Amino acid sequence: MEKYYKLIRESLETGREKPKTGLYLHYPFCRSKCAYCHFSSVIFEPALHRKWLSAIEREIEQVAAHLADYLVIDTIYFGGGSPSLLAPEEIMSLLLAVEQNLSAGPEEVTLEVNLAAEPDRVRGWLQTGVTRLSFGAQSFDPVVLEILGRHYRPEQIVRLAEEAGHGSARNINLDLMIGVPGESRKTLEANLQALCQIQADHVSVYLLEELEKVTFRKVWEENPLSDEEVAETYDHYRLKLEEMGWSQYEISNFSRPGFECRHNLKYWRYEPFLGLGPSASSHLGSFRWTNPATLGEWEAAINSGQLELPEFIELTPEAELRESLAFGLRLKEGLSWEDWRRKFPALDFSHLETKLSGLAAAGLLNFQDGWICVPPKNFLVSNYILSELLW
Ligand code: SF4
Repeated sequence: MEKYYKLIRESLETGREKPKTGLYLHYPFCRSKCAYCHFSSVIFEPALHRKWLSAIEREIEQVAAHLADYLVIDTIYFGGGSPSLLAPEEIMSLLLAVEQNLSAGPEEVTLEVNLAAEPDRVRGWLQTGVTRLSFGAQSFDPVVLEILGRHYRPEQIVRLAEEAGHGSARNINLDLMIGVPGESRKTLEANLQALCQIQADHVSVYLLEELEKVTFRKVWEENPLSDEEVAETYDHYRLKLEEMGWSQYEISNFSRPGFECRHNLKYWRYEPFLGLGPSASSHLGSFRWTNPATLGEWEAAINSGQLELPEFIELTPEAELRESLAFGLRLKEGLSWEDWRRKFPALDFSHLETKLSGLAAAGLLNFQDGWICVPPKNFLVSNYILSELLW
């Protein structure tokens, strides 16, 4: 791994402030496997869980030995899998390892919480330094939960969130899914009512993906939803949340003022992040890489200190610019075109500028005063805008 770290260190600009970096820790276990899941996860076993704990601590130490002087960790995100299977003491020990090895003083620590989590643990997590809980609720409509194969009741979600208490000590996100066959106006009402009851601060509204639709093919065929119906539901969420004083800061993400997810903003703003654990991805300097996908391969590589990264790639300036457009145009704020011109003065931007001007003339995006953004009313055609711009 030394050869990779050497390249990364060389690419991080020296003599400048250390880049503020997000740290993602991938916990790869779940109690059971959801039918539509396409995340990297396997069924929880205590022995595997213990092996993961010891390997991830080792990976933190290995990374720190090479990169601690070159970056500052300011956000941490426990994702998975179901990282809420981690006990508060285990989270505390991992946060301590990050703090001691990477001198982190994170402003935000998020934990994804599966709804099968034990309510008693919620306050324990918040006492370890976790500042943000992200609940994978999906829906508060029992009909939709049944179709998704989620075996919990809406009241369970409310109870877990209420365990976190109310007030400034905690920050709560709910993940909701739309475009699920069986959803109705009642689903929207139940979801918005739950947001208010829980006093949530943030909501991510995801559209059911094509891949996930395959899992529900039979239900989908019996009760198909047209693109227009899904778009109408998405617009209802946007309008209702705006009426409630929330703002949409990204295609799928809404928050109360000041509660935007700082960690996820790093991905969209093309800022550095480091991913540890199986299948986790990183982007530092001009390099991007992904850890071995399976638990066994990752653990063996970490324990032997011989991490090989077949997907370790150096991004050209053109690739960085294209990626930053693909991520940044998801944000309501958009991105600064002027910053990219300053960063790569030798790059020829004329081809992209012609396309940007054409898309702006067609009313699909705004391109003026060195800034580009897609107005929220056009978010649902973002894929089309990006394909016109980048291909
Ligand atoms: S809880 Fe999440 S990560 Fe685990 S199997 Fe279900 S969808 Fe996948």
